[in-house]
Amino acid sequence: MNVLKTYSRKRRGLHVNRLLRAIQRWALRTGFEVVSYGREEGYPLVSLSRHGRPGAARIYLSTGMHGDEPGGPLALLSMLHQDEFPRDLDWVICPVLNPVGLERGTRENGDGLDMNRDYHYCHIPAVLAHMIWLSQKPGFDLALLMHEDWGTKGFYLNEFKTGPVTDLDKRIISTVKNVCPIEETELIDGMPATGGIVHPFRDGNFGNQWPESFYLRDRGVATGLNFEAPSCLPLADRITAFRTALHEAVKPFQQN
Ligand SMILES: [Zn+2]
Repeated sequence: MNVLKTYSRKRRGLHVNRLLRAIQRWALRTGFEVVSYGREEGYPLVSLSRHGRPGAARIYLSTGMHGDEPGGPLALLSMLHQDEFPRDLDWVICPVLNPVGLERGTRENGDGLDMNRDYHYCHIPAVLAHMIWLSQKPGFDLALLMHEDWGTKGFYLNEFKTGPVTDLDKRIISTVKNVCPIEETELIDGMPATGGIVHPFRDGNFGNQWPESFYLRDRGVATGLNFEAPSCLPLADRITAFRTALHEAVKPFQQN
């Protein structure tokens, strides 16, 4: 399967129904349960979950928040198709948070709103549905959020955490470096960065306009990482960067 067939070059968006069908098909084939937690302009808001070994670490993964960032959903589809999600972990996945934006190729949702600034008040129905669904889940040991950045030339990540500081961020960057350039600027989105790591992830100027990561941190997620792939690179390279980062991120949580 060529996952790039769900991408429309003309409008920079995705064929979302095609994408959702493919995600569902490969998720079911690889043992995931597929549940819809809401609807948005006729599209289902889907989640995938699968249990690992008893006592497994719980990993949350989300993407498709911004519709002009197709790399995350396609990386996820590609990983499902290759049966790459490690079996020894508990997975909870939201693959397409903003289906209308992804169809249109816009950062915002169908009402022109940035969903990733609404996780404090949850005025947007799709954000509210997501938040309510998330609030019913037991806590996560690790949260991974896949985004892209149109203003940078390399991959970077930012970390939000309530748990102890580890060198996980550095290990991810040094592994991704083998497949993708790393963003080396020292100021990213107004926050200090070193070697592709925005750390500590400060609240910046968000105020009450919480992104999803703030909500997860507020819920006590021990470690969370926002992956940001550079949109200027070919889609296939962004997908490879996400897959590489994800595999490295979950390694410490896997069975030895
Ligand atoms: Zn984004």
